[in-house]
Amino acid sequence: MLIDSHCHLTHEFYENNLEELIKDSIELGISNFITIGTSVLENQKVIQVSENYENIFCTVGIYPHENQELTFDNLKKSLEENINSSKKIVGIGECGIDITNRDSQRKLEDQKSLFEMQLSLAVKYGIPVTVHNRNGDEIILNILKKYSSNNLRGVIHCFDSNWSFAKNVLDLGFYISFSNMVTYPKKDALLEVVKNVPKDRFLIETDSPYLPPQSMRGEINYPKYVKIVAEKVAQIKQKTFNEVSELSFKNTCSLFNICCQNL
Ligand SMILES: [Zn+2]
Repeated sequence: MLIDSHCHLTHEFYENNLEELIKDSIELGISNFITIGTSVLENQKVIQVSENYENIFCTVGIYPHENQELTFDNLKKSLEENINSSKKIVGIGECGIDITNRDSQRKLEDQKSLFEMQLSLAVKYGIPVTVHNRNGDEIILNILKKYSSNNLRGVIHCFDSNWSFAKNVLDLGFYISFSNMVTYPKKDALLEVVKNVPKDRFLIETDSPYLPPQSMRGEINYPKYVKIVAEKVAQIKQKTFNEVSELSFKNTCSLFNICCQNL
């Protein structure tokens, strides 16, 4: 019994085989999925998919570089319309900070405002936030601190930082989600986080179709490979596969307030 707490089932890679993908995953023990919105268009799609399948939940959000053509007011309005439109929406995101040297990226100051707008919605609607972090540890921490007194809850997804940052976000009540990055070489800092994270504060995910396991680098990732994340986490935490499956399932349902039938 596993849940993929962060995947992108509306990605074009799955357009023609979603039904099969879900069936395959269920046969392998992955019973539930949270599919993640990244833009105004994707948000509509994730809502649709989660309305179509009982075992799929979704989040709506604006990724740091998406919808640069729209004003923050319009984006906020769109997200609020989304939130009010479906009971399958269990969180806001993915949103956060993404620092690269690509020309197409949103300016950092604007990224911060967009992130804060989404955090304020998460607080307003009492739902958790899924945080994306690329090279933004300190900025994210400072922003999350501002909202932590407002009962902001959430998860740092695809965690790829060190124990010091992990400890700080755990102290704010956040969860940490591990992806197949735990199978990549030279990830000593990340593996230390896996080892140290309390058993009631971690999730597992695939971020499919991105970030396949090390043995499949360069290929399309699938939710079924969340099993590989669970295996690796179990090995590092010196627990059994079943223990890690159960803990991560329970933690995900608790964070996103999901009543999964299989729990
Ligand atoms: Zn993602």
